[in-house]
Amino acid sequence: MLERLKPQSPDALLALIKMYAADERSGKIDLGVGVYRTGQGATPVFSSIKAAEKRLVEQQDSKSYLGPEGDVAFAHALMPHIFGEEPEFVGKVEGMQTPGGTGAVRLALGLAQKAGVTKVHLGSPSWPNHAQILADMGLEAVMFDHALDDGTANAQAVLDLIGNAGADEAVLLHGCCHNPTGIDYSPEEWDAIAAALADSPILVVLDLAYQGLGDGMAEDAYGVRKVMATVSEALVAYSCDKNFGLYRDRVGALYMMARDSETLGLTISNANSLARANWSMPPDHGAAAVRLILEDEALTRDWLDELTTMRKRMRQVRDRLAAAGTAGAVDLAPLGTQNGMFAMLPVSKDQVARLREDHGIYMAASGRINVAGLHDGNIEKFVAALADVTG
Ligand code: PMP
Repeated sequence: MLERLKPQSPDALLALIKMYAADERSGKIDLGVGVYRTGQGATPVFSSIKAAEKRLVEQQDSKSYLGPEGDVAFAHALMPHIFGEEPEFVGKVEGMQTPGGTGAVRLALGLAQKAGVTKVHLGSPSWPNHAQILADMGLEAVMFDHALDDGTANAQAVLDLIGNAGADEAVLLHGCCHNPTGIDYSPEEWDAIAAALADSPILVVLDLAYQGLGDGMAEDAYGVRKVMATVSEALVAYSCDKNFGLYRDRVGALYMMARDSETLGLTISNANSLARANWSMPPDHGAAAVRLILEDEALTRDWLDELTTMRKRMRQVRDRLAAAGTAGAVDLAPLGTQNGMFAMLPVSKDQVARLREDHGIYMAASGRINVAGLHDGNIEKFVAALADVTG
């Protein structure tokens, strides 16, 4: 029976990690995998997480089952950080814990599908798993151009599709720090998108996986907050895996906003039944650690300080790249105004291969780099190598 399965291509980034590990050159640079790195190239556990985990070990007296909604106090404790203190829409929103942002995206799209959505508009390029999840669910992905050639967002493309959409359509938008381009909508563009969404039958799904890694916690949530304040229903897929450094602990949340309490109850009960059928309940540990941080003022301050350090470091790397101007045929200036961990360089697959083979620089074949892989010790080498292969 199992021989009937069709071969699947292996995850390209995971293959890149293996190649990088096998490379014995001392000056090799990893710009592939999407995790934050310090100036020393490490991805440490946050000290606020370590402190919360210590408390968790001491205080937790049971590991009995929770429900499919997981640790609801965790989902509630995050809400003021995502949506702001006491937003006008707060009574219309409920949250639940999910296995990472991936679980939240999956659940949001599952709810959309159960509500009758058949087509989902997705900016191109996007995080590759978006299209993979849609394909797996049998939902049609309709692509629109996310960015313009000058390195800014193509807001008109999204406004046009929203204006023409029907009631069986959804649109999936990155809240901030767009993966893979780093190109976000400006506040004015979000204002226009929110107004268009309010006039359209389309369902909006907002994917917020990098809050705090772009311009700041409130700044990065501008679009989400604006849309939520303007439309009557929305789904928000949230990840704590980057902004709490919890990657492998799989910490995420789904927030649902519905037009009235009856519809919100219906949405929650459908989300619970989908979660039950998919993973029964989310893993507890990481979300419990996040909750302990958010319930404690001093730990919350520590966490926000750690996040600020990460954000500032990535901003410095971007500023240095932008200040370099051009590297061979690559204009690095737009990276200075883009946000978060990722940027797309206009390099061919051959040039990516030459960066790897000739210079020990590892990046995705698409041209995506993780700017957190760069630091004082390797940034000049990177710019020179880029000039070498594209010049
Ligand atoms: N959405 C986007 C845009 C992402 O880049 C990612 C992570 N790469 C996720 C969702 C999922 O994050 P998690 O690791 O929490 O599942």
